[in-house]
Amino acid sequence: AKRRKGNQYEIFKNRMQGKNDHVLIFETKLRNALKENLFEIHYQPKMDVKTEQLIGMEALLRWYDEELGQIPPNEFIPFAEECGLISDIGEWVLKSTALQIREWEKQFKFNLRVAVNISPLHFKEGNFVARLIKILEETKVRPEYLEIEITEMSMMDYNDDLINKIQEVKYLGITVAIDDFGTGYSSLGYLKEFPVDTLKIDRSFIVNISEGESGIAMVAAIIALAHALKLKVVAEGVETNEEMEILKQYNCEYVQGYFYSKPLNVTDITQKMLNQKTT
Ligand code: C2E
Ligand code: CA
Ligand code: CA
Ligand code: CA
Repeated sequence: AKRRKGNQYEIFKNRMQGKNDHVLIFETKLRNALKENLFEIHYQPKMDVKTEQLIGMEALLRWYDEELGQIPPNEFIPFAEECGLISDIGEWVLKSTALQIREWEKQFKFNLRVAVNISPLHFKEGNFVARLIKILEETKVRPEYLEIEITEMSMMDYNDDLINKIQEVKYLGITVAIDDFGTGYSSLGYLKEFPVDTLKIDRSFIVNISEGESGIAMVAAIIALAHALKLKVVAEGVETNEEMEILKQYNCEYVQGYFYSKPLNVTDITQKMLNQKTT
């Protein structure tokens, strides 16, 4: 885990002074959270820039531990990747999201896509697609309601296997988005090789919009590149009206961020969907 202020895991580690038990205890807590269904999923709306309608959402994992409090995913996901729990967690999120979609379908006319974050370690496993198919069969969710987000990082050492795997996922009817675009320091050459649907511009570029012309130029260039490759664009971390206006000007299709909504629990996101239906 990275060292920074407010890092629950670091605080916990320091409290366990001198002992090496903290890793084991954290891992035990994480395993237990998975086994006992102590995770929760929040959903952050994605909005169409032109129509200002809710067009989809991203599933974001939440973990509250009685002793440690709320632990941010940026702390426990890397840990789960290190201790080999990430694929099980990823499958839990996929399955829970699928079952939640089935619930929504029972409650109203649901027709949105929900994106699930998949760790590159999980995606690269040999049986990823087979297990994904199993989840589709078990939950009977329509694949058209699912998207997976994989980080640009995972594309860096790409090969034909990876490209084929993305294609297989797409054949199922699940769309694929490249997450955190612009942070991977990878060659742009890979982009045209990947049969993905959407590109998510990392928040760091959106923050730069207000820094002036060069910030705007970067975002404009990324949007133009995506469109040249026939990809849709989601801008992440949009917080201000100024950012919205500039993204609109450069024909960015979708936005996600606090400007429109924070990630919401099931009750609140359900309410938001219902509100939209009646307005
Ligand atoms: P991400 O996939 O890039 O998700 C977007 C993050 O930005 C979320 O943080 C979200 O709450 C935050 N965010 C959204 N809008 C704004 C905004 O306007 N301003 C600011 N400052 N932040 C905004 P969160 O939920 O803490 O997740 C952090 C990261 O943890 C995610 O980044 C993703 O990489 C990872 N993560 C979360 N859930 C999962 C999961 O189920 N599986 C995997 N593998 N990773 C996950
Ligand atoms: Ca994401
Ligand atoms: Ca992202
Ligand atoms: Ca991120």
